[in-house]
Amino acid sequence: MFDNLTQRLSRVVKTMRGEARLTESNTQDMLREVRMALLEADVALPVVRDFVARVKEKALGQEVAGSLNPGQALVGVVHKELTSLMGADLGDGASELSLATQPPAVVLMAGLQGAGKTTTTGKLAKWLAEGNHTHHGRKSGKKKVLVVSADVYRPAAIEQLRTVAEQAKVDFLPSDASQKPQDIAAAALDHARRHHYDVLMVDTAGRLGIDEAMMQEIRSLHDLLKPIETLFVVDAMQGQDAVNVAKAFGEALPLTGVVLTKLDGDSRGGAALSVRHVTGKPLKFVGVSEKLDGLEPFHPERMAQRVLG
Ligand code: GDP
Repeated sequence: MFDNLTQRLSRVVKTMRGEARLTESNTQDMLREVRMALLEADVALPVVRDFVARVKEKALGQEVAGSLNPGQALVGVVHKELTSLMGADLGDGASELSLATQPPAVVLMAGLQGAGKTTTTGKLAKWLAEGNHTHHGRKSGKKKVLVVSADVYRPAAIEQLRTVAEQAKVDFLPSDASQKPQDIAAAALDHARRHHYDVLMVDTAGRLGIDEAMMQEIRSLHDLLKPIETLFVVDAMQGQDAVNVAKAFGEALPLTGVVLTKLDGDSRGGAALSVRHVTGKPLKFVGVSEKLDGLEPFHPERMAQRVLG
């Protein structure tokens, strides 16, 4: 495995004990190590460059407090900066969904094929149906949730959502591969209204790569559904590529948040920083297993720790 940042820096720092300040010359080698550590964690290169520049600006001139050496002082700056860039940690549940609207609150799921949209739809549906959702720190009660699939390109996708909905114990509105995605969405909205659902979750088609037709389709679904949450689902294992995918989705849609999946894998989670950097949107949840209870609120502090190793 990779060395963590503290180990990396301690090697560099051996040569410069007793320095009282972080300076241009004593941080140069350390910043190179920071850069390497972030690249190894799969943070995208332009994001790494920006980040290192920010850290440098913050670090220069900082006093090295009493018992710390310059390396430890710099790790402190890096850690703090990484945490704040990934979003303030407001504690459990604070980063959750906004559902404050005339019901049904529509949640639109976007992302590439295989990112984990359908699984995450099931996880969030279960989370909401069980009443785990909190609003301003208070439990907001069990929600009546309907899920529907607008993925007409892979008939198996509709069946997959049906299975997931059964496991999540939420209602599933059947759709059919012969329908237009827009018609499915309109029918689902109508059904959810008539049957007084609190939440309608719409799973969408993803392609293997970024595709203009797909973007247009999901934009038109967005226009029609007017979702209160438009969540971009991205696979943490995507590493460097996540940045391009996030950029494309962020430009196509007014995203409200990001779900980073497959953090149970061995990725260091650098995609969290990249995606946050290019979309500017909050990471709301992370996926930590294939199972429907494998969903956790996003914690910037923990993610910073993971990225730095
Ligand atoms: P979609 O094409 O975006 O709808 O993606 P799916 O929901 O079908 O997920 C693709 C694959 O990733 C499936 O095998 C899921 O079980 C798996 N998956 C999704 N989320 C996670 C996660 O958080 N952890 C793990 N280990 N696997 C996941």
